[in-house]
Amino acid sequence: MQQIVPRLYLFDEIGDMVHAYLWEWEGGVTLIDTGLPSASETISRALVAKGYPLHRVQRIILTHGDADHMGSAAKLRRATGAPILCHTVEKDLVEHPWKRRPNALLLRPLFAVVRQFPLMKAEPVTPEEIVVDGQELPEGLTVITTPGHTAGHISLLDRKRRILIAGDALSNRKGKLAPPPGMFTPDMKNAERSIWKLAKKYGDEIDVIVFGHGPPILNNGGARLKAMASRIFASEV
Ligand SMILES: [Zn+2]
Repeated sequence: MQQIVPRLYLFDEIGDMVHAYLWEWEGGVTLIDTGLPSASETISRALVAKGYPLHRVQRIILTHGDADHMGSAAKLRRATGAPILCHTVEKDLVEHPWKRRPNALLLRPLFAVVRQFPLMKAEPVTPEEIVVDGQELPEGLTVITTPGHTAGHISLLDRKRRILIAGDALSNRKGKLAPPPGMFTPDMKNAERSIWKLAKKYGDEIDVIVFGHGPPILNNGGARLKAMASRIFASEV
């Protein structure tokens, strides 16, 4: 497990394709995303190795219902007893993950096949808790609705410590802060509006950004986000 900043850890044990995080707070620990369906035992072992028995997990937050983020949610719920939380609009996808299709038409047949591999097949779950935009969580995180990549995607902001957990609302590939990949983002216009919202409303409250894919940004994240939004909309945020 790799510390990004105090009390925020990356499960680097599950590899680099997709990220899942551990958030420490007064009440225990919360998982933010759960990796692919094959990641559950690795995540459980990493928790125990870090000194957290599984029952210390208070909650499993899903930024969205893609198989690489919710893949191990059902198994980790059984292992920890922790409730699963997602956005109210995302509930349908989390309960029916097979509804998710890539944007690119050509990829759809491939996606349908790959999804049948046990290692890629996300087990559906019914979330115990659903949230809406602006909701404050006991973890010290504010829920920010950031639709586009999926309809009920959320990001999470620790306003005190200036940390944004972006999920796939943003990506950070090859050193470049960018919108989520178009191939897997059915509503890019909305994804861009979400970026504008993050930049305009919260840009001045962000230093650190962590992503579903790509390395973290450890400082000036808000300024970089505002610069990107200004470029996309050809208008100063
Ligand atoms: Zn993803």
